[in-house]
Amino acid sequence: MQDRAGSFPHNGRSIGARPVLTSLLRGAAQKCPACGKGAMFRRYLKVVDACLHCGEELHHHRADDAPPYFTIVIVGHIVVGLVLAVEMAYRPPLWVHAALWLPLTLILALTVLPIVKGALVALQWALLMHGFDPDAEEGIGDGLPDVDPSPLPRRLDFWP
Ligand SMILES: [Zn+2]
Repeated sequence: MQDRAGSFPHNGRSIGARPVLTSLLRGAAQKCPACGKGAMFRRYLKVVDACLHCGEELHHHRADDAPPYFTIVIVGHIVVGLVLAVEMAYRPPLWVHAALWLPLTLILALTVLPIVKGALVALQWALLMHGFDPDAEEGIGDGLPDVDPSPLPRRLDFWP
């Protein structure tokens, strides 16, 4: 289960070097950024709570809307470039454009999305973002807002 004995003293968060480029490549390959062997996703885009190979916790990620944004940018640049190139070279009718680019856009988006999400989760892990920092106290960096323990006033005394 754990291939680095003693490297998880902080509740499933490894200590030691976290090289950004290696982590990014592992994440883009949809593998655990820590060991590069365990799968990052248990379903299409569902990140595992912890790596099944090394035990690194991955549930701290906060990818949120970033993977779709980057996927749109990447796929948009590819498809728009191809559309313009084909239009300039062949000037096909509109139905040919629709038949080509709609399926290509869908296939590319569904292919690129998990790659981008894996890379972003790995980047957050490598940069110790959110709860990935092994030195962070529990509850810090988990993305949840701090709660003010003082109670709100029952009423406001605007009037004398
Ligand atoms: Zn792992």
